[in-house]
Order: sequence, then structure tokens, then C-alpha cells
Amino acid sequence: MNQKYEAVIGLEVHAQLSTITKLFCGCSTSFDAQPNTNVCPICLGHPGVLPVLNKKVVEFAIKLGTALNCGVNHKSIFARKNYFYPDLPKGFQTSQYELPICGYGFMILKDDGEVEKKIGITRIHMEEDAGKSIHDQSGFTFIDVNRCGVPLLEIVSEPDLRSASDAAVYLIKLRQIVQYLDICDGNMEEGSFRCDANVSVRLKGEEKLGTKTEIKNMNSFRNVEKAINFEIERQIEILEDGGLITQQTLLWNADKNEAAPMRSKEEAHDYRYFPEPDLMPVVINKNWEAEIRKLLPELPEAKRERFIKQYNLPLYDADILTQSKAISEYFENTIQFTFDYKLVSNWIMGDVLKILNERKISISDFSIGPQSLGNLLELISTGQISGKIAKDVFMEMLLTKKEAEVIVKEKNLLQISDVTKLENIITDILQRNNSQVKQYLNGEDKVVGFFVGQIMKETKGKANPKTVNELLKQKLNSKRPN
Ligand code: ADP
Ligand code: ZN
Ligand code: MG
Repeated sequence: MNQKYEAVIGLEVHAQLSTITKLFCGCSTSFDAQPNTNVCPICLGHPGVLPVLNKKVVEFAIKLGTALNCGVNHKSIFARKNYFYPDLPKGFQTSQYELPICGYGFMILKDDGEVEKKIGITRIHMEEDAGKSIHDQSGFTFIDVNRCGVPLLEIVSEPDLRSASDAAVYLIKLRQIVQYLDICDGNMEEGSFRCDANVSVRLKGEEKLGTKTEIKNMNSFRNVEKAINFEIERQIEILEDGGLITQQTLLWNADKNEAAPMRSKEEAHDYRYFPEPDLMPVVINKNWEAEIRKLLPELPEAKRERFIKQYNLPLYDADILTQSKAISEYFENTIQFTFDYKLVSNWIMGDVLKILNERKISISDFSIGPQSLGNLLELISTGQISGKIAKDVFMEMLLTKKEAEVIVKEKNLLQISDVTKLENIITDILQRNNSQVKQYLNGEDKVVGFFVGQIMKETKGKANPKTVNELLKQKLNSKRPN
């Protein structure tokens, strides 16, 4: 990026709420229903019907507002955002405009250089989702209106972000928060957590904001970063050539790695917002708000700090373990069954996350539950199996869904710590490998590794490595002439 310029970015995020029913009717919000079955006269906007606000949505908005340090407006109103589109049978989207549920707030984040930054949150408002158009290969377009009326929270940031990576950090944090609050599943690929990016550039030191463009259609963190970087470069190039930026909406094309302008007809907005006549203003009772605030769950940062203090974990571990609420809970459930917190942390960060990544599954679909993992790790902690054998047992657990104890017993994997037994094996191996013994006595310490290897081979990896090392050194040294 040309060092003369500075990027300015503001994000508009839509979080689809995980309520059971829609925003203004009793229809189900479930994803996997047959097309056009989760509908009723209200979400289809038939004449004469009246919407009724879902209280859960207001509760979720207050929760998120509180987590983002926003002021909650005790009176807010819904508005109609009017536009025509085939997937919007009502002809308008019920949203909030002038008086949203939450006003100004902020999020603190650390940039690349670990410098803390305060990112303003302009507002959070409640609104309903539209349906889906499915463009078939045969050239037909199908409409599924199941999603019409599904509740969303829109979170609008101030133009306080200064790079694509800032934007990604902000998004990742915001997603973590909605997941911890249990109000949205945060799935970007499936579109339950979506983001539009507003981007402009200006000369460093300049106060005035440049003309912005808005990029849509990015469905992963990686694409958000790529799209923003693409747009920053494109704008700088235009300005360097003496041109002007046109305010417009661009669509990100992930296959071509470029953003192209939307057809201008589609972006010509005149929504004619007006207050929704069918809904009363939303008035929030202070006691209810206080109750919601009291019941707010522990948020990611607080949990991370607690993990460091309570379990004596390095920041690095605490950070990874608390990135997802489900993983943090898996950790805390596992340590109910074994006491070595660091060992549990290492296994979750390593072996468990590796399998989840490979299989592209989430921890809730992982076949080894916290108790089973805890019991496996307890076998290491108590010296019954080695860490190396434990890896094999772990893979076997994945394959057979058997418990660690059962596998260890069936395959006779218990670690050999019995001194007499190990001494016999060592004596035998030293006898059979006279020349290596001589090498050792001549000062070649590295042959110890050879002996350990032989012993492990003989015991099929079951010898207790610590005991082996001690006994081996004793035996070898006793062969030195006095
Ligand atoms: P619009 O009227 O086009 O919707 P808003 O003022 O509502 O614009 O802002 C929408 C988003 O764009 C917000 O996230 C805001 O922070 C961001 N934004 C506004 N102006 C700029 C700018 N010049 N450069 C980058 N982002 C901007
Ligand atoms: Zn309905
Ligand atoms: Mg706007």
C-alpha cells in the first residue's frame, strides 16, 4: 500500500438471531425446512394482518448492546424501508431507522502491533430478513420465503478501522461476542453472520473523509480482508492517476478475487423510510433491562483472564481455548476428570483441534467427549501410559468409540514402570550390543539414544521413559572400570 495514504473502514454487520420463532409471527426460523413452508400471512405481508414483536429479540438486542458498551434507548421505534424485490413479498422491510434500540457504544481491540484501539459502534438496530432467490443452472430463479421475517440485529461501526486486518480482528471479536451471548451462531458461510464493508482512503494527516464505496457479498473473514485490500489499492490507484472516487456499491467476486460495481439500477436507493404504523414504540422497562444485564454470561475477554489466573495457563493457551465458547466449555468439562490443566490445554489445542479442522466439524460433533478425554489424560498423569502411547489410544478411541481404559486393557498397553522387569530387559539389551556399550564407555554419549530405542522396541513403547533413562545410565556407568 502506498504510504502516503490511510484507509478508513466502517462495517455494517448483520447477525441472524437464533430465536425459535420469527420477529413478528410464530413461524419457525429453522434453516432446513422445505422451501416456502415456514410462512404465514404475517411474514408474507398479506393485507390486514398485524405483526406482534418477539420479546426475545429485544432481549438479545439489549444483551448485545450491553456487551458492546452501548446505551440502550428506553423508547425505540420500527420503520418501513420500502423497496421492491421478488424475495420481499411485503414490499418493505420492517427495520429501525431514526430511533434504534441501541445507541453509541464501542469495542476495544488490538491491532497487528498490539496497540489498543477504540472502535466506535454507531448503533444497533432490530430488523427482519428478506427471503432468498435461488438462481438455478437451468436459467430459472426460484424464491424461498422461509427466511422472510427472521430476526436480525444490524451492528453499524464508526469509520474507525484503519486496515483490512483491523476489520478482520473487529469481526472476529464481534462474532465471538454474539456466540458467547448465545444469540447468533456466527456462521459466515451459511450467512447467519454477514458483513458489508465501507471503504475510503485519504492522505495521511487529512481530517476530511474520502468518498466511500460499499462492498457486499463476502462470506468469510478471509474474503472480507481480501476485498478491503483490493478496494484500498483500487482507490489509491485512481487517486494517484488524478481521478475521483465514485460513491457506489461493489460486489465481491471470490472466484476472480475482485470487486465489481453492482448494476446502478440496483443501487439506486430511495427507501422512503417512515415509522411503522402497525407497531407500537418499543418501551423498555428499566427493571427488565437490569435483569438482562445481571444475567449476561461471562464474555470472551473475562473468560480468557480467568483461565490465566484460575488454571495458570499461558496467555497463548487461554486465548486459543476461549476463542470459541464451546471449546472453552469443553476444556472446563475435561478438567473435571483430570488435574493437569496444561496437559489438557496442550491436547485440546493440538490433537483435538487438529481433528476438528481436518474433519471440518465443530466440537459438539466430536466423538470423544470431555469425560473420555479427561480419563485418557489421567492415564498419562498417573504414569499408567506414556504420552506417545496415549496418541495411539486417542486415534483408536476415534475409530472405535471405546473408552481409553478399555483400549489400554485390550491391547495391553499399560506402561512398564516395574524396576526389576525393566532392569532385566536392559541387561539383556546391553549384553546383545557390546560394541555400542564400548562406544558409550569411550565417551560417545549419543548411543544412549540407541539403547532407549531398543528398549522401547522390545517393550512396544510401553516402558516408562523416565525409569528407563535412570536405569540405563546406572547400568552403563556401572560398567566403567573403576
Ligand atoms: P450510508 O448513508 O451510505 O449508509 P452511513 O453514514 O450510514 O452511510 O455509514 C454506513 C457505514 O459506512 C458506517 O459503518 C460508517 O462508519 C461507514 N462510513 C461512513 N463514511 C465513511 C467513509 N468516508 N469511509 C469509510 N467508511 C465510512
Ligand atoms: Zn410467519
Ligand atoms: Mg446507513
